[in-house]
Amino acid sequence: MTTLKMEHPAASGADSVDLSALAADPAALRAALAEADPATLMLVLVQLTGDHGLLERARPHITGPMNYHETMPDDLRAEIRTRLADTLLDYARTGDPLPPLPEGDFLQEMLSTAVGEHVSADYTAMMREDLEAAQPDPRGLIWRHRPEPAALEHFPVVIIGAGMSGVCAAIRLGQAGIPFTIIEKNAAVGGSWYENFYPGCGVDTPNHFYSYSFELNHEWSHFFAKREELWTYFERATDKYGVREHIRFETEVSSATYDSASGTWDVATRDASGAVTHLKARAVISAVGVLNRPKLPDIEGRETFAGTAVHTAQWQEGLDLKGKRVVMVGTGASGQQVGPTIAPDVAKLTILQRSPHWVVPNPNYFAEVSEGMKWVLAHVPFFARWYRFQLFWAFADGLHASLQVDPAWDDGGKSINQVNARHRQFMERFLQSKLAGREDLIAKCTPSYPPYGKRILVDNNWYEMLQRPNVDLLTGGIAKIVPEGVVMADGTLVEADVIIYATGFQASKMLSPMTITGEGGRDLHKVWGPDDATAYIGTMVPGFPNFFMLMGPNTGLAHGGNVIFITECQMRLILTALREVLETGAKAIDVTPEAHDAYVADVDERHARMVWTHKGLTNWYRNEAGRVFALLPYRLVDYWKMTKTFKPEDFSLR
Ligand code: NAP
Repeated sequence: MTTLKMEHPAASGADSVDLSALAADPAALRAALAEADPATLMLVLVQLTGDHGLLERARPHITGPMNYHETMPDDLRAEIRTRLADTLLDYARTGDPLPPLPEGDFLQEMLSTAVGEHVSADYTAMMREDLEAAQPDPRGLIWRHRPEPAALEHFPVVIIGAGMSGVCAAIRLGQAGIPFTIIEKNAAVGGSWYENFYPGCGVDTPNHFYSYSFELNHEWSHFFAKREELWTYFERATDKYGVREHIRFETEVSSATYDSASGTWDVATRDASGAVTHLKARAVISAVGVLNRPKLPDIEGRETFAGTAVHTAQWQEGLDLKGKRVVMVGTGASGQQVGPTIAPDVAKLTILQRSPHWVVPNPNYFAEVSEGMKWVLAHVPFFARWYRFQLFWAFADGLHASLQVDPAWDDGGKSINQVNARHRQFMERFLQSKLAGREDLIAKCTPSYPPYGKRILVDNNWYEMLQRPNVDLLTGGIAKIVPEGVVMADGTLVEADVIIYATGFQASKMLSPMTITGEGGRDLHKVWGPDDATAYIGTMVPGFPNFFMLMGPNTGLAHGGNVIFITECQMRLILTALREVLETGAKAIDVTPEAHDAYVADVDERHARMVWTHKGLTNWYRNEAGRVFALLPYRLVDYWKMTKTFKPEDFSLR
């Protein structure tokens, strides 16, 4: 049996690939290749053969990261599939090691061809890291001088939260041999994916990208999985990496207080019975997320409603909407998923929209992953990683240019630059085609603001839903709520049995309601004020040594992207900081005020030139003063670099 496993970064890296499975059933290999994307297969073939000519022949037919299907001629597709099958079978037969990734320019050319656009040289190092899937994983902690076991034993870390980011932190600490305890308020892991189970709940970033880089899943049933499958993924990772036994469920952290003399944190927790426990930690990692404290709208009479009122993130198990008159407030990402899912069942669905969102279709949104594609993802070396890069580009950095304000661009505030205008045109055409003949709905659904000003929503049959006879879209504003339903600004009463609040979260109150007290009794919420959270690289605040945040201030992504990527980057920075402490025998590490302030100034300066601060636009990414506290202004590749490049001058050891 030929099992090719990555032993060393310089070797052929292909995760863990068993080529004997291919050799055992060549017909299955050929059949599976017929179901996989030809452009991705071509990249694998070029990597295996070094055939530069093939790259050049395929290039004209790949005009974007996800839209190569239309133009690639059949004979070229067939050639790619046949040659790839033959090549893989040869490797299986000979047992030769797979070749490494090509160097510099060739790799950059492959990256550019993969997505049908110029990919700058900035990306080669980052993508090499991902494509090589090297062991040991450079994104984990690689010791320079491994501390004595006793030193590690005396370095307990408390992680707050067992959602996607807390589990990631735990896995990385576990791999580094650093002891940890996770405190989780819920009865299960998964965070948002555990708490949210409203009808239609699922992801709108494709799963083959929205997953841990070290835990690819080749079995996703859909390209965009629903909540249950996502939650199961995080459950499985928790068990696979031995994290569960370190979690204290149904326990909340109420405070964390730093003691400068001992360099320890006192973490106060309260469990379901009300019992308070104090844990001593050398470091604390907050992984509480941003979107977990539901925001109910401040509408007069809200509590007088006589029917059932439910927030999307606090759904009632077994809530039966069949035959009910339902009012839904809010049309963001959650509303987009709830509305079309429940509309066929309810007697009447009245949607109360304050502002419309831009909606984009995705041909894979409802699609199942074929068995052939799953097989290829699991068995064809490099395929899953190349596919992941294509998704990375389509859903993240490939969109970054559309977010930048061009000062010379003026079309009356509809868009902010030429690319952004092109995206607007595409989405306008889409909604106009879907709502053809319904000028009333076209007018209500067309945002006045530029694309990406609010999160773009992936179409969940929203416009079809709006044209159902039992669905109404009201935009006139809410006056008050009464026992019978909702009274609109024009005095109309919309009677309701159920009100669904798809109204989002209290995002600006980061880390609430915990009290975090750093050096000299400094209270983090006083440092930040009511809604102005800041942090060095979104991770550290001066005066709070050995206190780290995952998904902290200015780390959110509203244009696409993947928060798992951000979390993994942050963990790398945190692990490097902890390495400094552990290898030097210091008590703790802190970021300097100068480094923090310079970082925040740069973030603010960039945001001033980006879409989210566009005049007249409302979104939850800004605080009362208008400062963007929630979002990352950088490309993901920039963030990767920042979190990878540890700058000793930005820190001080205690
Ligand atoms: P959201 O994006 O904040 O949307 C809230 C909606 O409620 C908006 O339409 C907002 O209108 C409306 N609203 C708020 N207060 C209102 C009021 N007083 N009266 C009338 N309307 C009101 O919340 P969300 O949809 O829960 O999404 C939050 C975030 O969660 C998303 O940005 C995304 O990051 C994440 N999410 C992701 C997924 C996914 O991956 N599929 C699914 C759900 C959520 P305005 O726009 O006018 O403020």
